[in-house]
Amino acid sequence: MTDKVTGGCLCGNVRFETAATPAAQVLCFCTDCQHISGSMCYTAYIVPLDTVVLLQGEPGRFDTPSDKGRNNSRRFCTECGSRLWAELESGVASVNGMALDDRTHFRPTHNHRLGTAPDWCKVDQSLEDLPVSG
Ligand SMILES: [Zn+2]
Ligand SMILES: [Zn+2]
Repeated sequence: MTDKVTGGCLCGNVRFETAATPAAQVLCFCTDCQHISGSMCYTAYIVPLDTVVLLQGEPGRFDTPSDKGRNNSRRFCTECGSRLWAELESGVASVNGMALDDRTHFRPTHNHRLGTAPDWCKVDQSLEDLPVSG
């Protein structure tokens, strides 16, 4: 199937597939993403949640409320700690673009929450800014 891409965690314990055509590819500079990724932003590969299919392993889950009070369920490998995807109540998944087997497949289309981008990081202002929603 060419309409799927595959990915997994660092240790290989968890494997998944998802849609090859994402709804958006977002660099998220929110503080939760910074905290979890250890980076200035998270590579959020946005797809419908039902396109994310677990192929192997059993990822852990950590739920955090968004600032609008909706749940954001963050999935990760319990062996190696790699962040895999987040499940949003709106029915979308935010897959870690760098967890894809072909990480060159991730091409950012949007910035999100630039207000909390560190002042030392270079931001690609040519990308569209994705407004904050629920
Ligand atoms: Zn792992
Ligand atoms: Zn974020």
